[in-house]
Amino acid sequence: MYFMTPEQFQFVKKQAKKILNTYTTSNDQKVIQAIQALVQEEIDDKLTFGEIEQQIVLQPIFHIQSKEQLELFLKDIKQYVEPFQQPTEAELKKLFPKDKKLKLPKLELFDWQETSYLSWFDAGTNRKYIVYREDGALKGVRGTFSNSAKVGICTVCNQHAKVGMLLVSKKGLDMGTYTKRGNYICDDSGACNEALSDLEKFTNFVNNLK
Ligand SMILES: [Zn+2]
Repeated sequence: MYFMTPEQFQFVKKQAKKILNTYTTSNDQKVIQAIQALVQEEIDDKLTFGEIEQQIVLQPIFHIQSKEQLELFLKDIKQYVEPFQQPTEAELKKLFPKDKKLKLPKLELFDWQETSYLSWFDAGTNRKYIVYREDGALKGVRGTFSNSAKVGICTVCNQHAKVGMLLVSKKGLDMGTYTKRGNYICDDSGACNEALSDLEKFTNFVNNLK
C-alpha cells in the first residue's frame, strides 16, 4: 500500500504548499490552472503510480486553499509513505566501531516517514553522525561539526539555512594517510530532511565523502 518514499512525501508537501501559496496570492483562474498543471507534471515526473487509486489519493492537492486543508491532506497521504526502516541501537553501534562511547539519539523521537537520512550531533565530541540506507544496507559517516550559526547553502538539501561545517576524514591513497573533506550542511537535520526532496543530492554528498 506504500507508494511514496519520505523524499517523495517531502516533494509532494512542497507542491502542496505551492498550490496553497497560489490560491492565497492570486484570484486569477488562469494563473491557478497554470500552477495546477505544473504541479501535475512535477508529480508525474517524480512519482511512479502502480494503480489509479494512488493518483486519486493525491487529487485533493489541486484544491488546497487553506492551512487546515494542507494539514489534512498531508495527514491523509502520510499513511502511504514507507518509513525509513528504523535501525536498532546495536546496528548503529556497529556502524561506528571506533567510537567506544558512542552517544545515540533518542530513536523514538524521529518521524520515520519524514526521514530520508538519520542524523544526530554529539555535543560532547562535536561529532555529527549521518546514517542512511543504500540498497537496504545501513551505512554511516561521521565527522566533526562546527556550528557557525551562519546562513548558507546546505550541500545536502540545497536550501538556504543555518549551516555548519562538517569535516570528514577520508583515507588517502597512501597507507596511513588521511585527507579531510569539508561541507556546509544544515545545522537542523530535521529541517534538512524536510527540504530534501531530491535524494540524489544526498547520495552525491555521501559518495563524495568515500
Ligand atoms: Zn540541508
